[in-house]
Parts: sequence; C-alpha cells; structure tokens
Amino acid sequence: MIAGLMLTATPQAMATPDPVDDGINVGHYSVDLNYRPSTDVLSGVTTILSTATRDLAQFDLKFLLKVSSVSVNNEPATYSVKDGKLSITPKKPLANGADMIVVVRYSDTPGARDDGLGFGWLRTPTGAVAVGSPAYWYPSAVDQADQATLDLSAVVPTGVEVITNGVLKFDGPLPAPGGDKWQWRNDRPGPSNASLLAIGQYDLKISKAPNGQQVVNAYSADLGALDSPARAAIERTPEIVNMLSHWFGPYPYNAQGGLVDSKFFNVVATTSRPIYKSGVFETDWNSSVVAHENAHQWYGNVVNPLGNGTRWLGEAFATYAEFLWSQQEGLGTAAELAQYYYDKFPADHPDWKAPPTNPDPTSSSAFPIYTRGAIALQALRTEVGDETFFRILRNWAAEQKPDTAPTTEEFTALAERVSGKDLKELFHAWLYAPERPAVGPNGPTTARSTVKPLSYDTVTANAQRFAAAKHHM
Ligand SMILES: [Zn+2]
Repeated sequence: MIAGLMLTATPQAMATPDPVDDGINVGHYSVDLNYRPSTDVLSGVTTILSTATRDLAQFDLKFLLKVSSVSVNNEPATYSVKDGKLSITPKKPLANGADMIVVVRYSDTPGARDDGLGFGWLRTPTGAVAVGSPAYWYPSAVDQADQATLDLSAVVPTGVEVITNGVLKFDGPLPAPGGDKWQWRNDRPGPSNASLLAIGQYDLKISKAPNGQQVVNAYSADLGALDSPARAAIERTPEIVNMLSHWFGPYPYNAQGGLVDSKFFNVVATTSRPIYKSGVFETDWNSSVVAHENAHQWYGNVVNPLGNGTRWLGEAFATYAEFLWSQQEGLGTAAELAQYYYDKFPADHPDWKAPPTNPDPTSSSAFPIYTRGAIALQALRTEVGDETFFRILRNWAAEQKPDTAPTTEEFTALAERVSGKDLKELFHAWLYAPERPAVGPNGPTTARSTVKPLSYDTVTANAQRFAAAKHHM
C-alpha cells in the first residue's frame, strides 16, 4: 500500500509483465457487481471456473479490494489480500488437474485502492473507468496469458450506463432493485489485461456489423468539439473490422465497437471494444487509430505478447494495419509508407540502434517497435510475395496456443515454414541487428521515395502518441 506510493513502475511495465506460472488455468469469470457512482462503493461476487495446473495447497489471484468471503469447491477458504494479491488456502489441497469453483465476495471503494501501477480505477465526474487492470473490480489470474470467457452483470442507479467488452444482452439494461441491471457476455476467451469497465454518462450507439455481430459504441457526454470527429472515426469500426478480417482472418471476438472518454488519457485495445481518449481525434481523419486498435484484437489480444522484447508482435502489426488502411483509403500504399520511413531515417540515426526485439524500455521513441517493426513486415512481404505474406499473418493469429505468450522465434519459424524460404538473414537484419538494414523494405532496386504519403503525418502522430503514453496496445 505504502510501497505503491514509492514504486515508480511505468504503466508499460504493468502492462507487459513476463508470463508466470500461477498454478491455475481459468476458463470463465462470472462477475456480478453493484456500483454507486456518488460514493464509489463497489460490491461484487465473482465466480471463477478453473483447473489446478499442479498440486496446490494455496494459490493467488490478482486483486486489490476488501474481501468478505472466499469459498473453493463450496467450502469456506482462508484468505488474505496483500500487495495486489488475494492469497487463498482451500480447506482441502487441490490435486493437479482438479476442477475448482472459486467464489469471492467483496465490497470496497476502488478509487481509494490505487496501487500506483497501470491505469487503475479512474474516477470520472459521472462514474469510473477501469482499463487493463481488473484487480479493481474482479479477482483474476495472476498469469496474464491466461485467457477466459467473462459474463458481467452490474446494477447501477437508473440512467447510468455500464460498458464492458463483448455483447450487450437485451440491447440495454433491465429494471432491477436498486436501479438498472446491465448484462454483458464474452463467450470468446480474452486476456484479463485487455478488460474494460466504464460506468457513467455515455451516449450508446447500437447497430449491426456486416458479419451480423452487435456493434456498441459509447461516447462520454462531454466530448464537446471532438464529439463529431470521434464519431466520424469510431462509427466506421464495422467497415474497418471487415477489412482487417479480409487481411488477418476471422475476427476473434463476438462483438465490435469503441468507447471514447474525455477523461481517459490513453488508447488501449480492450477486447472487442477499444477505449480511446478523445484527444486522438484532434488529428484529422483519424480512422487510422481505429484500424490500429482493432488490429490489436488479433495481434495484441489473440497473439498476446508479454515482456518488452515481444511488444513488436503487437505494435508492428497494428502499425502495419494503419499502412494497409492508408492504402485502402487512397492516402498512400504500405510500400510507399515503409519506403518513406526508411529513407527519412538515415543510417546514422540513433533510433536504428534499438531493434524491435530489444528496445530500450525507458525510451519513448516509437521508432524501434512501431515503425521499424512495421517496415520489417513490409520487407518480409517483399521477400515472400503478397499471397504468402498474408497467409503468414493469418496463420500466426490462427495458430496461437491458448494461454501461452508468443515469442519472436515462433513467428519467424512460422514465416519460414509457410513461405518455404530461409529468412534468417532478413529477420536478423530487420528484427535483431542494432543498425539500419542495408537493403530497404521494397528490395534493392526500389528508388528513394520523393513524395510524403498523405497518411504519413497521422500514422506518425499516432505512433508517437502511443509510445509516449506507454500505451500498452
Ligand atoms: Zn498499439
């Protein structure tokens, strides 16, 4: 608690921990909440379906709030909450492979529990926003590679909106004792570090996507001059997801959408429904940021990189999605963007010293992970051709093993297998070497670029904004 004030870990460190063996594999969370915005009192019961992955006398969940009871397999368990962990000792030890049902009851004021890490529990004038760190609203697996389904029900005062990931049941709330009851369902597993909860005054727009999925967009009531630019970008989400599905394979979640909040300070690819700070829509025509965040649904959430050396497996791919979207919009092709970046950064530019797989974690430069990573993908595309390149991208998302964090070596091995080519030299030059690759992303015969692509300033501003904010995805 006090230590939380002393620690100066960055949100990035919070968002990209290394994988851990926590001894459990969660399949499902059922989260029932009651929240009062005026007092910040949150009461909840979370039921967790999981399996022991080794013999367990004791196990931990990630959680910060005051707990009133815990049961394991319907028997009371002893517990303690300390340093963001809920430690549980079941009455009977659990054998490796045993199913377990864990029920945790709690009540607290989450705003008073800031651990100084991550995005926390952000009180807003009309409620609260929690992004990427469920410890403020439900207990979850310590291992952030552990993906699970989640149902949420939340009772709030009548007239208050509740938004989370997934499908909104009944297209809206139902009357309930104490106000309105909102019910949401995520029946495709997602990582808990990509969870979203927003409670407060929002304008909800509900529609249907081309693939038949529900689209729920939410806009905080105080966007002012940015309300229209935000809607002009976010309302195109189904069109953008449709294009991304064409390039990357089937969309991985059961619903689509976006949430814009004037009080949130970052952009995060929360599953199925990214959250955007309104400031990103000060940049003209920023549907590019919508392409970036929704690309993270594949490369960021399904492919869930953990640890600094693999962040490029999310960011480079999401930036490359902006290149592809730029081409789709007629604002410059992916090849033109990659070439322009390559030519603009001369060989003696210091940013080439940090390759995508070994970026300086203290640097806020977007270049190594976002830009060089995306140019690296263009170089791969040049080497293997369009058809093979997109087959590699689709297979990479489709072949992810559930509940494990991906490695760069798995990606490069897959690219070699799918293409049937030895790509070691190419990957060494683009992903590992601390210098500018001798050959540009479009091959040795391509001329230097002379014209700045129309999308260049927006794509560059987005990358700089994400990197400066230590935006996790
Ligand atoms: Zn990103």
